[in-house]
Formats: sequence, C-alpha cells, structure tokens
Amino acid sequence: MVDVTVCGAGIFGLSVAYACLRRGAQVQIVDPNGVGAGASGGIVGALAPHTPENWNPKKDFQFDSLIMAEDYWAGVERLSALPTGYARLGRLQPIADDHTLTLARDRATSAKRLWQGQADWRVVPASDHAGWAPQSPTGWLIHDTLSARIHPRQATTALAQAIAALGGHITHRATLAGQIVWATGYDGLLELSRDLGTPVGNGVKGQAALLGFEARKQPQLFADALHIVPHHDGTVAIGSTSERDFDDPTSIDTQLDDVIARAMDSFPMLADAPVIERWAGIRPRAKSRAPMLGGYPGKPDQFIANGGFKIGFGMAPKVGEVMADLILDARDTIPEGFRVEDNF
Ligand SMILES: Cc1cc2nc3c(=O)[nH]c(=O)nc-3n(C[C@H](O)[C@H](O)[C@H](O)COP(=O)(O)OP(=O)(O)OC[C@H]3O[C@@H](n4cnc5c(N)ncnc54)[C@H](O)[C@@H]3O)c2cc1C
Repeated sequence: MVDVTVCGAGIFGLSVAYACLRRGAQVQIVDPNGVGAGASGGIVGALAPHTPENWNPKKDFQFDSLIMAEDYWAGVERLSALPTGYARLGRLQPIADDHTLTLARDRATSAKRLWQGQADWRVVPASDHAGWAPQSPTGWLIHDTLSARIHPRQATTALAQAIAALGGHITHRATLAGQIVWATGYDGLLELSRDLGTPVGNGVKGQAALLGFEARKQPQLFADALHIVPHHDGTVAIGSTSERDFDDPTSIDTQLDDVIARAMDSFPMLADAPVIERWAGIRPRAKSRAPMLGGYPGKPDQFIANGGFKIGFGMAPKVGEVMADLILDARDTIPEGFRVEDNF
C-alpha cells in the first residue's frame, strides 16, 4: 500500500516525503538519478533571512521555516545518526557608508517586531569579529542571529536516511501509486512548461567551491554578493556564480575561478586555503521566483513542489508541512504568491 509517491529525491521531494511519513502515511520516493543528484547535492548551504522590513507572505513563510529548522535538523540527525552540518551561528555583512548604516539601524528596530524576539539584527563594531569578518568601510557590521548554515549534500543524505528509518522507500524506479508529488527541480519546470504550453520556470546555473579551512564555529559572511559559509567539517564554501545561459548544467569553468579570486581578495584570511572541490548545479527558478506549490493543473491527485531557487534549503521544513497539509488533509495552507497558478 502506497499513500504517496514522491518523484524527485532532492531537498523538496525529501522534505515532503518526511512530513507525510511523520503524519503516518506510507511513502515511496522515486528518482532515477538517486538522492541529491540535482541542486540539492551541493556544498554552499546558507540559510539566511530576507531583510526585516516590508513584510510579506514570502518573508513570513521563510521566517517560520528558518525558525523551525533547528528542531527539524536535530530530529533528522537523531533518526539518521548522520550529520547535517546545521548550526545557527548567524551572519556578518559589511556596511559600506553612512546611508547603509542608518538603514541597518532602522532594520535592527524593525527586526525586534518582525522577528518576534526570536532573533536579532544588530549593528556591531567590526572589531568585535576581528580575524573573521568582511572588510567594512564604516567599521560597522550587520550581525543577524537568524542565519544558519547546513551542509546541503550531507543534509540531503541524512534526510534520506531518516526517511528510511521511518519506513519510507527510496528507489530508482517504481510504479507510481497513491497521490503523486512532482518535486523534480529544473527538469520538472521544463516538463511542466511543455505540458502547459507556456514557460512557468527555468533554471539558473551556479558554480561553487569548497576550501579546506577551519572555521566551524564562525558565522557565515556575505559581502560583494558572495556567500562564505564555514561548515562543521573544517571546510568553507564559497558561492556562487549565477548563470541564466548555460550549455552544460554541471561543467566548471573560469567563472568559478573569478568567484574564488574575488573571495580571496575580499577575505584575505582564505587566501592560502586549498580548493578541495568545485561543483555546479541548476537552481530551479519558477517564473514568480517564489516556491511553486500546489495541485498539478488538470491532474487530480497530483501535486507540485518546486521553485526552491536560491533558498530551497531554507524553505524546505515548511514546504514539507504545507504540502503534507494539502496532500493528506486537503487543507490549503500555501501562502499567497506560492501557488502553481501564480506562474501562468
Ligand atoms: C550553486 C548553488 C548554490 C546554492 N546555495 C544555496 C544556499 O546557500 N541556500 C539554499 O537554501 N539554497 C541554495 N541553493 C538552492 C538549492 O540548492 C535548491 O533550491 C534546491 O536544492 C532545490 O531542490 P529541489 O529538490 O527542488 O531540486 P533538485 O535538488 O534539483 O532535485 C530534483 C530531483 O528530481 C529528480 N528528477 C528529475 N526528473 C524526475 C522524474 N521524472 N522522476 C523522478 N525524479 C526526477 C532529479 O534527479 C533530482 O534529483 C543553491 C543552488 C546552487 C545551484
């Protein structure tokens, strides 16, 4: 007996499967390429919030998901006995000029209300983080305590193992049975566009690098559009390129060399660190740029969970819950702007 078949063993498919299993459903996951074969097998793993201002359903959803993440990933580690690399160690960003400093202080005030005392957006002297900080022309930094990091590839593996521990079955091929969820990432967006006869999404390629550098207790850094994410295993990820046009989804080229060079220039403490891995993947980007969640147009008992784009890991815990509400209880808790129909 299968209640739910999830197609796609990336972070979205696995998080939907995990939520359904935890509510007692019988779940199988089918992915011809195996667990973490797509964007979710990556190395960056910044779980970082939107700015605390101009609040909207997308920011609210993401905030809830980031707050849920600590217990969520602790539960996955317990069930799987594998590391996910999750730790909520915050993030530092430079403040370029007086205008940005004023803005940052305003946001510190609005964060108190919008983040409900569960995290802070602080303006702190750069000297507080000497040795591990972006260069900041004003001498001040933004330190938010909501940002966390995860190791995407390890977290995906651990979540798959937790699913197996709950009785979920992950396979390369199977007869689709029960309610069917398409969490098929970039390929799925292309397929859906063909199916609907209108483009509803595409992919944005990203290349990232992993350095051998010990900074596991440090916050992540964000400056010059670069994410610097220290992992729990003595590595530091640098991300990423953002390529709308590409021929080969997994090739590595000189654009990544430029990213690495910029990172080493902006963060001199990394200059001598060896590059131990280069990786590329395709971020599934819905036309709306928000997650694309809900029923499959014209196909009863079929669903879509896609569009994680740049923040799929940050959104995943809550995506699993709202999809399980819909699939198992026919309860629609999907926020405004996140629906499949918002893309055509
Ligand atoms: C360079 C880079 C850096 C990133 N950095 C971050 C970050 O710091 N923080 C963050 O939160 N997010 C980040 N992301 C985004 C994140 O990786 C994605 O949003 C997320 O992995 C998307 O997950 P997914 O499950 O939707 O897709 P995928 O992980 O791509 O999974 C889709 C799966 O579907 C399978 N599939 C395809 N067709 C079928 C079919 N017909 N049947 C069954 N299975 C099928 C594929 O084999 C694949 O395994 C980054 C992405 C990239 C590329």
